[in-house]
Amino acid sequence: MANLIPRDFIDRLVSDSDIVSVLSSYLDLQKKGNNYVCRCPFHEEKTGSFTVSPQKSIYHCFGCGKGGNVLTFIQDYEGLNFVEAVEKLAEINNVTVPRESGSNADNYSNIYQLNQVLADNYLSALKDKKNKPVVDYLKERGVTGDTAKKFLIGYADFDQRELKKKLIDQFSEATLLKSGNFLKNEKGIYPFFRNRLMFPIKNSTGKIIGFGGRTIDDSMPKYLNSKDSKFFNKSRELYGFHSAKQDHKFDFFIVTEGYMDVVMLSQHGIENSVASLGTAFSISHLQKLFKLKRKIVFCFDSDEAGLKAAWRSLQFSLSQVFDDKTVRFLFLPEGEDPDSFVKENGQEAFLKKIERSMVIETFVYQFLKRGRNLNSPEDIRLIIFDFKKIIATTKSETLKETLLQKFTKELKIKKELLLTQDAPQKKILKPLTRKKEKIDFDNQFCLIIYLYENFSQIIKNSTKSFEDFLLNTENDKLSDLRETIKSISNGDQAHKELSIYAKAMMIDIHLSDEEALNEFNRATDNIRLEFDKSFLEYLKELANTRELTAERKENLQKLLNLSDNISVQEEELIKFLNTYA
Ligand SMILES: [Zn+2]
Repeated sequence: MANLIPRDFIDRLVSDSDIVSVLSSYLDLQKKGNNYVCRCPFHEEKTGSFTVSPQKSIYHCFGCGKGGNVLTFIQDYEGLNFVEAVEKLAEINNVTVPRESGSNADNYSNIYQLNQVLADNYLSALKDKKNKPVVDYLKERGVTGDTAKKFLIGYADFDQRELKKKLIDQFSEATLLKSGNFLKNEKGIYPFFRNRLMFPIKNSTGKIIGFGGRTIDDSMPKYLNSKDSKFFNKSRELYGFHSAKQDHKFDFFIVTEGYMDVVMLSQHGIENSVASLGTAFSISHLQKLFKLKRKIVFCFDSDEAGLKAAWRSLQFSLSQVFDDKTVRFLFLPEGEDPDSFVKENGQEAFLKKIERSMVIETFVYQFLKRGRNLNSPEDIRLIIFDFKKIIATTKSETLKETLLQKFTKELKIKKELLLTQDAPQKKILKPLTRKKEKIDFDNQFCLIIYLYENFSQIIKNSTKSFEDFLLNTENDKLSDLRETIKSISNGDQAHKELSIYAKAMMIDIHLSDEEALNEFNRATDNIRLEFDKSFLEYLKELANTRELTAERKENLQKLLNLSDNISVQEEELIKFLNTYA
């Protein structure tokens, strides 16, 4: 579908967009020099590494390495695909997306339009006196008029002849049928949803792509959803996602089992919940949510079916949970769901429940020991057998380790027992934090190399002391950086082959001279703090000549306070630094 939008339109759209004003509607940008900075929305951090350059129309995060233009930002931030992001950006800029060959795209927009007309009609049907029982039903469930309007909850009547007449004027029969809202027999077309409470379902960009219909009497099935089609895929779409992704109050999503849960939570100020569309929650759903937030809380019924659904979600979460991503499990008291719970107990009580929801380790343990006797060696063996299957599909080394800790403690057995045979990951239980450190490391290296190549004159006063250390240390961890810097300083070309050099040259951000120097000192100081034994001496010299920056003063104080034996001179220096401005 991407080729339907002319390439030059996309290019123009991107270059015409003001990156600062677009990103400002998502982030709290602060002006700094020629750039804007804020805390990165893509990784956890305390200080702002996320930098936006209006001159270059790009952004880059020095913490996690994410970067790109206004379009990639919308894609990543809103979890949209390329075409959806183009449409969103066009909408922000108030322009229409042209299509080269209209057939497919036009049909979809017709369908979205038709669905919108239907949703509006269903909603206004609630005003019809003869539908008072439906309104009474909604009132009884506690849904306010505002909420009904917000979610466009409405009613599809038994008799839709009037509505059909209106639609036939506006839309072709093919569109009516293709939308999935109408079927055809020898007498003509007739509505798929009749006598049902209607919940319009939106895609990521807010277009109505289908409906969920709930009976308000005893007829079956209780829930009916639009059939799957090219524009309505139940294993990818989620009810409530379009509004939940706009919530920035909570750092997690809540996955519930029903539309009414999403609606009622929203009515109580909790706007970050979604529900699957009558099918089981899928791995694509999980990936869709993880693109935007690092934490997901599954809230399922505490009956057998709810437990099984939770277990299923856990199983495919194991391959997706790594770094700081996490899932939790909340089981409300028997017979309660989020809808009834929040109605009776309010927002605060529900959020408290969320806070106390089960972490993965606890849920796995609780689930596996269900119906088993911990005094029976046989049952213990069965638990271990099941546990090994879990460990084998767990991707995160850290999670593996914490699961192992939980089970060795609870079952009072040796860790090795949990790792034999069918758990081949035995030897590689290094904690993930080390891997993350490596990424931070690489980013620092890249930044330093980038500055060497682009700001050599500006940073030249700082490079000497850094090179004195770097080129004389034999530390393995610094070998990539050392080789590249050595080669750049010697004017060799060999470094251009190195992957770390290539990565460094991907950095494309505008820095003022002052910023470049600050970034260089910050990045190299971080490395020296860790690896350079003579760094303390270097900082002392700077203190003596009163050339310490505020950041370096802090580093010096840190080093002095951490050292085991403080000499009299150093004691003097500590005192001196307390008054150093
Ligand atoms: Zn970042």
